[in-house]
Amino acid sequence: MTASLNNKVALVTGSSKGIGAATAKKLAAAGASVVINYASSSDAAQNVVDSITAAGGKAVAIKADLSKPQEIEQLFAKAHEAFGQLDILVNNAGIYSQSGIEDVNPEDFYRLFNLNVLGLMLATQQAVKAFGDNGGSIINISSIVANGTIPGVLTYSATKGAVNTITGALSRELGPRKIRVNAISPGMVETEGLHAAGIAESEFRTQMQAMTPLGRIGQPNDIASAVLYLASDDASWVTGQNLTVSGGVI
Ligand code: NAD
Repeated sequence: MTASLNNKVALVTGSSKGIGAATAKKLAAAGASVVINYASSSDAAQNVVDSITAAGGKAVAIKADLSKPQEIEQLFAKAHEAFGQLDILVNNAGIYSQSGIEDVNPEDFYRLFNLNVLGLMLATQQAVKAFGDNGGSIINISSIVANGTIPGVLTYSATKGAVNTITGALSRELGPRKIRVNAISPGMVETEGLHAAGIAESEFRTQMQAMTPLGRIGQPNDIASAVLYLASDDASWVTGQNLTVSGGVI
């Protein structure tokens, strides 16, 4: 039987596209009311809402740039207005850049860290305030590159290393408040972001597939299924864990 999220409310950051959109649809299909957050793609966010409501689910789209602290506060205030409670936060919004050591520069560093790390921490801070007496579940979308396994992706890998550290630290800090904090580390997943970065049709993709025991790169739903498990009561005694979902490549 599929995990039930009936009477739960979930907020998925960056959920107009890619892994976030698939996750929002998966959580809604399991019964959650879902807040679709987007930074700029209002049409794409509305499409996600429409597809959820057409299937009988509940969703609203709320615009907020997660690299801007004030907009994060407003996002959670509007989410509260829409659904009146919060039980699940999926910290999915994240940006990628390729940078070897020669390419490192403050502008790229702050752009990535402001969203992938500070945005995640401030969203978590708001969620912790919004969760009720029954606690909640936070799922951070990290990456298999967090340990520096792929050279030339230095700043991005560093942000995901920080996400892993934050996941462990917060699982300990928030466990006594019944708040579970876990991470998922996806391998390469075919999303709008992967296409925009020019990786989806690249030699790098072919190499990744060849190295992957299950012989393909991931699809957004592969990650969404893992998020559903960690969000649900099926994972009620699981916290501080990092689930690699990569076709076995690592
Ligand atoms: P994507 O580019 O396809 O989608 C990113 C989403 O984040 C979009 O909905 C976008 O609107 C949103 N976003 C971007 N900047 C934002 C901001 N400032 N505020 C709010 N939302 C913002 O990305 P994706 O490939 O689905 O990646 C989602 C997450 O998964 C990211 O954290 C990424 O690092 C991680 N990840 C992706 C892969 C992959 O191969 N695609 C692998 C490992 C980890």
